[in-house]
Parts: sequence; structure tokens; C-alpha cells
Amino acid sequence: MNGQRERSGEYHNFIDEAGIWADIERAEKCDRQEVLDVISKASEKKGLTPYEVAVLLKNGDQELDEAIFETAIGIKKAIYGNRLVLFAPLYITNECGNQCAYCGFKATNGDLDRRTLSSLEIQREVEVLEKLGHKRLLLVYGEHPKFGADWIARTVEDVYSISSGKSGEIRRVNVNCAPLDVEGFKRLHEVGIGTYQCFQETYHRETYAKLHPAGPKADFLWRLHAMHRAQEAGIDDVGMGVLFGIFDPAFDILALLHHCNQLETDWGVGPHTISFPRLEPALGADIAFNPPYPTTDHEFKKIVAILRLAVPYTGLILTTREGAEFRKELLEVGVSQLSAGSRTYPGAYHDPEYDRPEVQQFCVDDSRSLDEVICSIVSEHGYVPSWCTACYRLGRTGEHFMELAKTGFIQKFCLPNGLLTFKEYLEDYASPETKAAGEKLIRDELDHYSDEKRRDLLMDRLQRMEQGERDLYL
Ligand code: SAM
Ligand code: SF4
Repeated sequence: MNGQRERSGEYHNFIDEAGIWADIERAEKCDRQEVLDVISKASEKKGLTPYEVAVLLKNGDQELDEAIFETAIGIKKAIYGNRLVLFAPLYITNECGNQCAYCGFKATNGDLDRRTLSSLEIQREVEVLEKLGHKRLLLVYGEHPKFGADWIARTVEDVYSISSGKSGEIRRVNVNCAPLDVEGFKRLHEVGIGTYQCFQETYHRETYAKLHPAGPKADFLWRLHAMHRAQEAGIDDVGMGVLFGIFDPAFDILALLHHCNQLETDWGVGPHTISFPRLEPALGADIAFNPPYPTTDHEFKKIVAILRLAVPYTGLILTTREGAEFRKELLEVGVSQLSAGSRTYPGAYHDPEYDRPEVQQFCVDDSRSLDEVICSIVSEHGYVPSWCTACYRLGRTGEHFMELAKTGFIQKFCLPNGLLTFKEYLEDYASPETKAAGEKLIRDELDHYSDEKRRDLLMDRLQRMEQGERDLYL
């Protein structure tokens, strides 16, 4: 631990706790008109300040909450259309030297069966995922001295190297691992990772210290500056998040926004994505069964909607920690990326008896298969599932991506490209029911396409897909 403290020795804590509490206190006193003013400002799609976010979070008027949801639905539609990016997590190792009170992988959990995938086991997992139709994976790692940046980079290369079937390949590997130093992040950049993801869990230092008593993760500032180091190493797509249930959600959301602003000030670009995991039961983690700050479904939905208003151009990621029914509601108010068919331990996808509490990180609430999730979002909600990776492969990332996103680019490129990846899925992986629902959705989309030139381009590529071509994008 001491060595770790030295690593963050020069860092400062840019989270002004007293300022955040003051904003929250002031917001608690504001009147109905002020809430309405903030909602009206949010509808301009220019984002909100942390104080304005506090105003919405502290609103207790049900009617105004509905107005928040409506505005979030409108912004989501205007910026993202009906497109939803899909991915799956792939757990590489559950070995970990940390002692996060809430996690089944913590070092002190003697009941956990520890596993780290070999290259061959990674290959088996990826083949299963590719055969289901996945194109985007999030690799997840415990933090252990045995596994440094070079080893993580090699596992990323392993994943990219595997192809199976007609269009079976992983086109974007995102990584959720412990913070690295700049050299380590450079290794991950060299092997072509997409987003580097790391959650601060809580920005409240005292609580952070209590929940992370030992191991490298105990160093709050080292983690707080992880995104800055990633940027310095050239990784300009970074993903942030907090873990809901462990501290006051209003405090942590405001702090998260300060973190986003700090990154934007220092590097000219905020996070590419934000995640909002809620505590799930985990083996050997008492706090996970009895969260000190439980968030109700209504509060949680409100948090997602308010994030949509606060950072309109940042991707919002929802995982299978939430149940199937509730996920549908959350999609509408702002979620733009969704995991599906997830399994939360190393080797799980290749394991016929995959429900194993003794190895997994936490319990998955939505256990439907990828195809079931797709069928539901297509036929019940009219969403276009997307595995598009065109921007990342054409170098449209970081600041560049944000600029493009603000000029209607998502509608112009992301939607047609999403449709093309969806077509690929329908051709190669879908069940008959999903295929029928999906083909109908594509026809409807084409019927409503206002830009004729782009519609022709799209139709040309859709036809080429039917004739066997793959991986086409605009
Ligand atoms: N070990 C790395 C770290 O901690 O940053 C990355 C992997 S860790 C498995 C990924 C995330 O899982 C953590 O950042 C935490 O937010 C989340 N997590 C841990 N325990 C959880 C639980 N019981 N329920 C829900 N999410 C949990
Ligand atoms: Fe290890 Fe990450 Fe789990 Fe903490 S959250 S115990 S660092 S895997």
C-alpha cells in the first residue's frame, strides 16, 4: 500500500466535497420554478452544471419527475434515434489482491474458486461469443500483481486474433481493469483497445477508504487520475462510473460530473461513456446484500434520465445487473449501450452449467440470451440493435467523436451503420422469430428514411450483405 501512496504522491483531489454538499443543500431549498427552468435548459441539449443536476435530483414533485423523464426521452431520441449498441462482458481473471467490501472477487473471499483464462480458454470463450453474434466485448480483470499491462495487452491481442464462421470476429475490445501507469496504458493503446473503463465507485474519500481497506485500489488518488493518465497515453475514449448503493447517490453523481468537467478542462474531451452499476449480491460481500444507500427503481430511473440531460452526448451503459422488465424502462430514458447474455466469471460462456455463485463476481438479474434480448428490443420497442465499430476503426474517437456527435452525425452515420451490422446479425445468427421482426424493422426504417441519397447507399449495402458480403459501413 505504501508504494501505491507514493505513486499518487503528486496528485491532488479535484473533488471539492464541501462545494458538492453546499450545492446539494442549496438545491434542496429551490422552488418549483427553478426545477422547471433547469428542465427547460436541459431540453436545449447543451448539458447541465452539477448544481442544476442537484436541483433535479432533489426535486420531490412527482409531476416534475415525469417532465424530467419526458425531456430525457426526447433528448435520447433526438441524439441517438432508436439505435442501441450491444456488447458482452468477458471475464479474463477473477484473481484479485484488493479488498473491495462489495465484490465477490476480493482477496479475502476464500470461498471463491479462482480462475484465470489461458490463451486457449480465451479462444474458446470468444468463439462461443462470436457464434452468438457478438462483435464488441468488454474484457474484465481482477487486479493482481501477476497480471501487468503486458499480460493484459496480450489477452486483448488474443481476443482480436480469433475469428469463426462467416462474420465471426470481435471488432472492438473495451477494457475494464485496474488503473495503469502511462506506460501501461500505452501498451493497451498499441494493441488497439476501444474504451478504457474504470469506475471510481465512490468519490467520497472517507467512504472510499472504508470500503477499500487494502491493496492497490486503496489509493483513491491513483484511481481518480486514471483517466488523465489514459489520455496522456493516447487513449481518448474513456468510460467512468460510480457504484450505486455504497454512498449518497446525489453526492457521487455531482462528483462524477466534476470528474467529467476536469477531464474536459485538462484534455479537451469528457468521458465517452458513463456506467451506473447498482450493487448486486456477491459471494462473501455482506454489504452487497444490504446496501447502506439503497436506491429505489424510481430513483435509479431518475438518475439515468438526469444523466441523459446532464451529458447528452455521452454514451450511457446499462448492464445485466438490472432485471429484464426494468431495463426496458431505462432504455427509453437515456441508455445508449446495453450488455446482453452476460456471464460474470472467467470461462462462463463455454461452461454448460454457467450458474455458479462460487466463481462469479455478482449475480446477473437479466439472464436472457442475446437473441432473446434482441427479439424483445426490436419487436417491443422498435430499437435497432447495433454492433457498429466504424468510428473507432476510422479513427473517429475522443474529441473528434464528440464534435461529430454534436452535429447530427449519429443520425447520419451511426443509424445506417447500425442497420448494416444488424442485417449481418440477421443473416448469420438470428432465430427465425428475431429475423422476421428484424427484417420488418429494417423495411420500416428504409420507408422513413428522409435522405434519399443515403437511403440508396444503405440499400445497396444491404443487398450486398444478402449476397454474402460482410462488414460493410458508410
Ligand atoms: N478490478 C477492476 C476494478 O475494480 O476496477 C475492474 C473489474 S471490477 C470486476 C468492475 C466493476 O464491478 C467495479 O468497478 C465495480 O463497480 C463493479 N462491482 C463490483 N462488485 C459489484 C457488485 N457486487 N455488484 C455490482 N457491481 C459490482
Ligand atoms: Fe478486485 Fe475489482 Fe472486485 Fe475490487 S472490484 S475486488 S479490484 S475485481
